[in-house]
Parts: sequence; structure tokens; C-alpha cells
Amino acid sequence: MTLKDHLPHVHLHGSDHESDKGTAESGESSKGTKKSFLRRIVSGGSKSESENEESASTERPRSDLEPEIVIELPPAADFHVHLRDGSMMETVTPTIENGGVNLVYVMPNLVPPVTDPETAIAYMAKLQALSPRTTFLPTLYLHPSITPETIAHAAKLGIVGVKSYPRGLTTNSDSGVLSYEQFYPVFQAMSDYDIVLNIHGECPSTPAEDVAGIEDQDITILNAEAKFLPTLLSIHQQFPKLRIVLEHCTTAAAVEAVRACGPTVAGTITAHHLFLTIDNWADDPFCFCKPVAKLPADRASLLAAASSGDPKFFLGTDSAPHPKIAKQGRSGNNKTVAGVFTQPYAVQLVAEAFDKVGMADQETLERFCCKFGRDFYKVKEKGLEVEGKDTRKIVLMKGMGEKVVKEIGSGDSAVVPFRAGEDTWTLTWKE
Ligand SMILES: [Zn+2]
Repeated sequence: MTLKDHLPHVHLHGSDHESDKGTAESGESSKGTKKSFLRRIVSGGSKSESENEESASTERPRSDLEPEIVIELPPAADFHVHLRDGSMMETVTPTIENGGVNLVYVMPNLVPPVTDPETAIAYMAKLQALSPRTTFLPTLYLHPSITPETIAHAAKLGIVGVKSYPRGLTTNSDSGVLSYEQFYPVFQAMSDYDIVLNIHGECPSTPAEDVAGIEDQDITILNAEAKFLPTLLSIHQQFPKLRIVLEHCTTAAAVEAVRACGPTVAGTITAHHLFLTIDNWADDPFCFCKPVAKLPADRASLLAAASSGDPKFFLGTDSAPHPKIAKQGRSGNNKTVAGVFTQPYAVQLVAEAFDKVGMADQETLERFCCKFGRDFYKVKEKGLEVEGKDTRKIVLMKGMGEKVVKEIGSGDSAVVPFRAGEDTWTLTWKE
């Protein structure tokens, strides 16, 4: 299979939405209709031609429908993505644009992890070749081999952040952190060079075989994030100038903790955690990720934070592709792997979630998906993306009959996106 087989098919639809009927059914639907759209559809990989046509007819937006809502935004920024390496990288990287995103903050948990600046820069070059109009921001994996000197060098090469993983907790985290104190000299250097610390904020679970229990160590995936929050606070108190992002907040307690910290601490919120609760992943590996989705009240708190206009919260999808067979526990140790793949539908999912609480308006979506993350990361101030290089807009439409594709890629590396086969908003790019 060539790379071209993985690339989204590009269709130009100049007249589909040029409505001269003037009979829009809602006041919203006439907005932005006299536009030509560059439509990109994720293709199903190596399916036969007839299968492709069949899936296209059910998965693509229907040109005979008028959108119920149309929202135009600048391109979004996704401050937490997993793009992997090898063929998986080739499959998923071209889908960034499908999700309305033109800037991504790339996680370093490859095998082996990205722990030196040169490797990170070389990785960005590979990604850039796969999605030329996307801006890729490089990170390092917090590891004992990283020293204050590494940080000085990283700053010179344009590394934006360092990600810490608690050991053994999620995908490729065997090299992760056991204790944070040993990294205080590194954190001081990061603070001095204004490099961001990204934290996967969970404590490892109490070992299952420890049936007698350990005092004060009663930890499972349900309270792993809440148990971590004191560590976040202590790192922040120790390094008040160090910019810290608590990644993928999943609890009301995490939202409160981020709010309680100073302006140097922010939190990312994923798209899928705006939909899921415990019941969803309990019997569905495709909804299973770390941190796991929690209670309905936690989900409500995340939705409220994301749509509140508080600049401390912005989009980081934590889109994490795994082969379908690995999610189904059919590879390796018969267990499922943690991660939900949302990349091709990043902004569409947020719009749909915000719509459920009556918050899918242009300003609210733009702040959460486009603005607050860029502000926190000082994208403009530091020149992290070339100003004026990308003047495109994204156009979101509700009610176009589009469905999430069933899978992306093919064979053993096929990936099933979040909410495969379900209704989704439509997203197009406008030059
Ligand atoms: Zn992640």
C-alpha cells in the first residue's frame, strides 16, 4: 500500500451549498451557504471500489440537505495528539485536517520514547511531509536521561514542552516517572527557558495482587486522577513560573484544581470525555482510554469548563490511534489498549457536545478550539506558527446526514474512530 492510499480523498464541491433557493428553514441555515468548499473525506483504505462507493453514500454529507447550523471558525489547534510512527503515522497524520485542525502539539511516546531534541525535530519533519499545511509542535518525554543541559539545548532547537507519564500507566509509558523530586533541576531549567511541562496526572493503581491493601494507597483507575492532584499543586508551588498543563482532565476535582492554581497552570480537555462516562467504556474497548471517563457529574463539569470562556481550559484531543485488533484484545496479551481515536472529527465532536448544552456558538467554539490553547502556549508571541501563512477558515455544519467512517486504514493497522457509524457534524475547509 502506498502513502497515497492513506490520504483523504479531496473533492471540490463548488456549487453544492450555493443556495439560491432563499428558503432556508432556519435563520441559521442561510449563513455561509454561498461559499465554495474544499471537502476532504476520509477514505476507507483498501476497500474495493464498490464498497467505497457504498460507504461514501452513507458516510458523506448529503448535498440535498440544508444545514441546521453553520459556524465558521479559524483553523483549530489541538494541544495533545498521538501520531505514532511508521504505517500508523502515515494513516493518521493526513486526518488532522479532517478534524479542522492546522496546529498540533505532538506527544513523544514513541518506541523508544523521544528523549532528545534532535530526534524530536526529525520526527516533526516526517510528520510535516505527510501534512504540509499543518504546524507540528515538538515535545520531549520526561526521562532520567534529560538534564538541565538537555533543556537548554531543546530550547535552542525550538522544543515547546516536555511530557511526563507516570510509569506503566498508559501506552508506551514503561520509561515514565516514579517520583517527581528527582526532576526538580530539570523543572527549574524548563521554568527558566519557558518550556511547558505536560503532565499525565494519574497515580499508578494499587497492585491487584495486594489483597491486604496498602494504607493511603487505595488507588484504581477511578480515583487515579484525583489522587494525583496534590502532586500537581506541589509542583506548581515549587515552580510558580513553570507553565504546566494538566492533560486530559476527566474529573470535576481536576477542573477545580486547575482553577485553584495560578495563571501558569492550564488543563486540556478531550473531545471524547465530553461524551463518555464509566458505563460507556465498561463494555466497549473503543471507549476505553486513560484516564478513563468518570461520572456524569464529572462529564458535566468538563463540558461546563470547556464552554465557560475560562482561558485555562482548551482542546487537547489525546487522539490515540491503535489497531482495531489491539483494541479488541486480539493482539499480544489479550487485553485491550487504552486510547480513543478522534483526530478526523476533533472539532466536529466538540461542536456536537457543546450543542447538547446549547453552547455551540461561534465565540464559545473559537475560544476553546482555536484561541485559548494558542494563547497559553504563546504561539503568536514565540512565532510558533507562521503568521498569515494559513488564511483558511473551517466551516461546521449540523444536520448534513454525515456519519463517522467505520474505520480508517486497512488490514491489521485499521483504526476505528470514536463513534464509528454514528451521525456527525460536517466540516469543510474554505480557502
Ligand atoms: Zn495522551
